[in-house]
Amino acid sequence: MSDLPPPSSERLVSVKQSIVKAEKDAGRPAGAVTLVAVSKTFPAEDIRAVLDAGQRVFGENRVQEAHGKWPELQEQYAGVELHLIGPLQSNKVGEAVSLFDVIETLDREKLARALAAERAKGHKLPDLFVQVNTGAEVQKAGVLPQDADAFVALCRDELDLPVVGLMCIPPVDEEPALHFALLEKIANRNMLSQLSMGMSSDYETAIEFGATHVRVGSAIFGARTPV
Ligand SMILES: *Cc1c(COP(=O)(O)O)cnc(C)c1O
Repeated sequence: MSDLPPPSSERLVSVKQSIVKAEKDAGRPAGAVTLVAVSKTFPAEDIRAVLDAGQRVFGENRVQEAHGKWPELQEQYAGVELHLIGPLQSNKVGEAVSLFDVIETLDREKLARALAAERAKGHKLPDLFVQVNTGAEVQKAGVLPQDADAFVALCRDELDLPVVGLMCIPPVDEEPALHFALLEKIANRNMLSQLSMGMSSDYETAIEFGATHVRVGSAIFGARTPV
């Protein structure tokens, strides 16, 4: 039927085109931005369509859900890079470390120490992003902006964790650009080169403000059924 939404493969192409345009408009080199396709809540068959279209970097927000879907997909598709973008409980660190290539939600000392303990057992750690609660929202994870420098120092300098960048999720009802600018400022003064910011509704703005990773779900996979 003509009123069906476009397939995810077409939406993926148009998101990638928008990224290329946003990079160019911002005077940034082509390929400066990595698209993390957020596949949370979508079943393996929907993810397969996006894998078949060539996408290899994906984000999931729950360890259990990712564990149920991804090992089999990774046997079928080479070169997948999986990002954890949701809260991580310290008792799931072992599982997360073996499943994910990047953990974007490092946000507290207990978790940092659990990751260090995992490495001490001989496990290679994924690249890590420190999540910053740029809007200081009580219900949201992340270190407060004023605590970010000390937390990065603890993780990177004291515990020697592989911290590569910062991540944020701006408040829904505020101008995201202010939050992107704040995250970039904190990253610069801590000499962190990677910034995970921007979702379906604001990834082009995030690219203007220096995002190196944008996390795009619904613009590729379609609307999520509320859980
Ligand atoms: C769900 C989610 C996204 C993707 O959101 P969309 O609006 O569907 O693009 C990005 N980042 C995080 C942390 C998420 O939980």
